[in-house]
Amino acid sequence: MSSVQPSPLRVAVIGAGPSGFYATDALLKQREDVSIDLIDRLPTPYGLVRYGVAPDHQKIKSVTKLYERTCGDRRVRFLGNVEFGRDLTHEDVMRHYHAVIYAVGAPSDRNLGIPGEDRAACLSATEFVAWYNGHPDYVGLEVPLDARSVAVVGMGNVAVDVARVLAKSVDELAETDMADYAIEHLRSSEVTDVYMLGRRGPAEAKFTTKELRELGELANADIVVLPEELEVSEASLQGIEGDATKLKNLEVLREMAGKPLQGKPRRLHIRFCVSPVEVLGDERIRAVKLERNRLEPTESGYIRSVGTGEYETLDAQLLLRSVGYQGTALPGVPFDARKNVIPNERGRVLEGPDGPPLAGAYVAGWIKRGPTGVIGTNKADAMETVETLLHDELPPVSADQASPAAVDRLLEQRGVHPFGFEQWLALDRHELEAGKAAGRPRIKVTTVDEMLRLAGVKA
Ligand code: NAP
Repeated sequence: MSSVQPSPLRVAVIGAGPSGFYATDALLKQREDVSIDLIDRLPTPYGLVRYGVAPDHQKIKSVTKLYERTCGDRRVRFLGNVEFGRDLTHEDVMRHYHAVIYAVGAPSDRNLGIPGEDRAACLSATEFVAWYNGHPDYVGLEVPLDARSVAVVGMGNVAVDVARVLAKSVDELAETDMADYAIEHLRSSEVTDVYMLGRRGPAEAKFTTKELRELGELANADIVVLPEELEVSEASLQGIEGDATKLKNLEVLREMAGKPLQGKPRRLHIRFCVSPVEVLGDERIRAVKLERNRLEPTESGYIRSVGTGEYETLDAQLLLRSVGYQGTALPGVPFDARKNVIPNERGRVLEGPDGPPLAGAYVAGWIKRGPTGVIGTNKADAMETVETLLHDELPPVSADQASPAAVDRLLEQRGVHPFGFEQWLALDRHELEAGKAAGRPRIKVTTVDEMLRLAGVKA
């Protein structure tokens, strides 16, 4: 640790998702004399654990028990309902804390860049997932579920999540903590066929085996995999040598391809080596034009997809692109627009990709390394950041500014009413009790106004 670090050390962590919690936890474990404000723009903590993890994967959400313990530490305050960039700026933060850790995730998504993609029935998985999970920003999203056939572009775990949710019956989903309005809307779903579309082959798919297997065990949908799309070249096999997950994926896909259809109400198709090149239709989507791809290894060994000029038309009235989340710039904080991350070296923010360090500023999670990895990946990532922070010389903060009271005064002056952890725990109890009465894990409150009203906080 640097001998010049202040005591107590005041740190702001911006973003109360997994990476923010792991960074907080790592600080608590490594410094006794630390005081942390964990700040989030929503009243609810836990980020993607609440608004990203699929509602039918409740077990994954139990990680919040650990986060609860972190927030219960007397050295931590949760300040929800405080938006960075609007209620607090980078300059404010640097005036009141010795260090800041940006752990804001990757809230946006990428486009496909194909004609027709601007139609209302082309949504991103990011939006669809946030909508069915009751994220206050997406409550009003229009999801055209009168589609019979849905194209889900991408072969990652998010694509698997959205395909599975679309393939399940509403009765299965009604047992989860999916937002009530989404359950109601899914009740009217006319979907019969869901197509996951991978631009590369089965060896290159990014999903994990447990998630893939689950698709083959759905009560409401038969799985359809074309044996001819499972042929794997020598180069692809070399590319996954020693990768137990990808090798297992191939095995499971081969089992799936041999399975006869059982006449279930819906079908979930997994297609490889196809890329959407145009969305067809007028106001509404009628179909998606697909180009078949061949795969070729590059010099680095990466297997890339190349269009063959052979096309097919896929009947689809809704298209969900699930081609990766994307980080966005924070006001007043450096951003690498090429990699869509905050430029950093082991978590220390740099003024530009090759620039000098920005004193006192750190970064953790997806906005540090890009949108990859599962929840637990953020633990080691946050530890690295905290280690860097604790070895650095930090900029001075005047004693009268470096206190929780000074931050409270600033927010009060700006008319900002933070949502504290006790208030969250009360909201949590409210949701859990409502859920218990209905035989569900919880019933989510989905608007900020309602959250504030229930907690007696001024809007
Ligand atoms: P991802 O794993 O990076 O998958 C993105 C997919 O999009 C890949 O198949 C990629 O194909 C494809 N893609 C990218 N650009 C494309 C384009 N222009 N056209 C067609 N396809 C394109 O990302 P993700 O699914 O968003 O997941 C993000 C992270 O969260 C992952 O680490 C994931 O494992 C994790 N997650 C985990 C769970 C879970 O554990 N249950 C659930 C959800 C998410 P290429 O390979 O060809 O680039």
